[in-house]
Amino acid sequence: MQEAATDYRQLWSEIGVDIELHDQLLASLDRVFTHTHLWQADRPASMSLFDKAFHDSHSGRVAEIASYRANGGKSIGTFCIYVPDEIALAAGVLPMPLCGGSGWSVDHADRMFPRDICPLIRSTFGMAFSGTCPYKKLKEFAVGETTCDAKKKAWDLLGFPSLEVPQKKNQVDRDLWLSEVERFRREMEKLSGRAITAEALAASIRLVNDKRRLLQRINSLRMLDEPPISGLDALLVSQAALNMDVAAFNAAAGTLAAELEARASKGIGAYRDPGPRVLFAGSPSPMGFAKTHYVVESSGLRIVADESCTGMRYFRDLVDEGASTLEDMISAIADRYFSIDCACFSPNRERMENVGRLAGEYRVRGVVHSILQYCHGYDIEAKALDRALAGMPSLKIVADYGEQDEEQIRVRVEAFREVLAGRAV
Ligand code: SF4
Ligand code: SF4
Repeated sequence: MQEAATDYRQLWSEIGVDIELHDQLLASLDRVFTHTHLWQADRPASMSLFDKAFHDSHSGRVAEIASYRANGGKSIGTFCIYVPDEIALAAGVLPMPLCGGSGWSVDHADRMFPRDICPLIRSTFGMAFSGTCPYKKLKEFAVGETTCDAKKKAWDLLGFPSLEVPQKKNQVDRDLWLSEVERFRREMEKLSGRAITAEALAASIRLVNDKRRLLQRINSLRMLDEPPISGLDALLVSQAALNMDVAAFNAAAGTLAAELEARASKGIGAYRDPGPRVLFAGSPSPMGFAKTHYVVESSGLRIVADESCTGMRYFRDLVDEGASTLEDMISAIADRYFSIDCACFSPNRERMENVGRLAGEYRVRGVVHSILQYCHGYDIEAKALDRALAGMPSLKIVADYGEQDEEQIRVRVEAFREVLAGRAV
């Protein structure tokens, strides 16, 4: 990122970035990335494409979006995987995920938000308030959603429109959600001045499904006895999937999948130490935050499955490609997004079933609940998940984005590793 800084200073100035503070942010992101990712030995060569995506997130990707807008394109900011990208893309609107993963910006949120809300929200708005979010001026507006209380109240405070995500999964809730997806379609059409056609929507459904299929292909290799990709690198790929241009991501993911399949066929695994296999569950880990994955894997556990929104929840389900009319496609999109099993739902039986199935398919010995501090939905739901996984050992790690507690967490992870090491799969 530091290397890129010189080239992008003019662009950053033009879009109102505070260059001095932004340099501090980039230095912090660089240092954290080196610390959490680059200690791994013999990473797949194609991971360099995703390392680049990480470094491009404040430079090359910003330039791409600025250029798109300079040519008349529109873009919106999003904060959640409930916002249907397919619809925005079909209208020619670029959706940009804005969830912050940097610990550097967390304290900059103090000017508007209380300290006892989750670091994801504080990091996101800390970047905006400190003038270090390069996407702040590269969007027409941001679309929130009514998932957790902290988000709902943040949108009110900041005046963002939001999609109403129901909290239950009855027919009445599905009907409400469909009407919200239809409203989102009208908003995107209004923004771009372009009516969404069935052809355009079918193409964007295929494009985004292709992305999710590639992520499924990469992640299915983690079921092997010797997974060819680490949990840390799989996380980076998922984070890049949210940030990169979709076609560019699909090209990079195809290259990585082919390399991983070749490694797997030769028995080349990602880990020197075949420690116990665990499933990672809980809050998302936005780009810039990989502390929990890092401590868990550098303590000798292997994260072979990640059910979070920066893991399988993002790519587990596809939109049905069988519809031919626009209305049926919108309905298929509503169904796909309604199947997301966020902890904001009550009850959330689908998540219990999905995690139970993953635990079996990926042959894990234990679960690591990774909870962002003050993320009450996932924190409280960890108990229900433990009940659903009767008998499977688990470790709950509640953490913010700071690095000061890494060694304390490591002590607990090492003790957990000992427990798991003594158990059969
Ligand atoms: S955890 Fe819930 S609110 Fe957060 S991104 Fe995922 S679906 Fe959205
Ligand atoms: S991590 Fe949890 S508390 Fe934070 S925005 Fe997402 S759902 Fe809300």
